[in-house]
Amino acid sequence: MKPFVQIFVLILVLLIGVPLVLGLVSGRSEKNPDTAEDGIENKIETPATVTVWIEKEGKTEEMDFEEYVTRVVASEMPADFGEEALKAQSVAARTYTMAKIIKYREKRPAAHPDAPLCSATHCQAYKSEEELIACHDAGWKDDGWKKIQKACKATEGELLYYNGELVMQPLFFSSSGGQTENSEDVFSGAYPYLVSVSSPYEEGATHTNEEKEFSLYDVKAALASSYPDRATGTLTAENIKIKSRTAGGRVDTMQIGASEFKGTEVRSALKLSSALFSVSFKGSGADAKIVFTSNGSGHGVGLSQYGARGMAAAGSDYREILTHYYTGTKVY
Ligand SMILES: [Zn+2]
Repeated sequence: MKPFVQIFVLILVLLIGVPLVLGLVSGRSEKNPDTAEDGIENKIETPATVTVWIEKEGKTEEMDFEEYVTRVVASEMPADFGEEALKAQSVAARTYTMAKIIKYREKRPAAHPDAPLCSATHCQAYKSEEELIACHDAGWKDDGWKKIQKACKATEGELLYYNGELVMQPLFFSSSGGQTENSEDVFSGAYPYLVSVSSPYEEGATHTNEEKEFSLYDVKAALASSYPDRATGTLTAENIKIKSRTAGGRVDTMQIGASEFKGTEVRSALKLSSALFSVSFKGSGADAKIVFTSNGSGHGVGLSQYGARGMAAAGSDYREILTHYYTGTKVY
């Protein structure tokens, strides 16, 4: 081929070939069934900032949305938990934040009417960056904090959905003792994604076989103080009994003297770590003591943080962890 013919062919290839290839590529991506399946029609865009009621300062503070989520993750989960556990926590915390912002448009919370979220456990644990640095070892700022920032950045903007709708109750807690709870057994409402599931990888969790001992008089006094409308009368080892348990194995109802209490009520009045407990007695008569042996820490509904740590260590990614603890949900 003569040089001018070669150049002519090259120009022809560029003029016809390139648009053809580009057209094919863009045509394919438009029709890619995976893209349609993996997307979500009503994906919610998170806002740039969020207003938080800072409890100890008694005022609100507006801050970067993702910065807030990152500080919540650092306040809720130790940095030595696996990266996938931290990522799962970040999606749960971000979804919780978004849900609170949406609810705030309808109704302002009585505890902090000027902000959709607060810095106390009433919402999610939150500490400022200065407070976080102050409550950790000297090296935390350069390793733990960086690790948490990286995990949150990796899931930036991602939220949890059930059937295409934002998950409005992405609850989480510390450890389950082996099984999580149906929401309606602990709180008032039932949610299809907050159902009891096993949580088999909680080795090393705190609050395992935790024993708390009380005199029978102390139990009577604590219940009388929390629930003055239900008198127990004099307590003995014979008139205290666990009557029923929930799907997740926690105490559902308990007979204590003359009155009946929910396991969650007993947990709250006696400040037990979990309602997953058994009781035993020591001594007799006026010196009798009751021992509560509990497993797990927290309400037991939704994501178990220690369970997430265990699943991450066993090789699950954050999407698998979230789908396990929030049944039927997907991250977008
Ligand atoms: Zn709050």
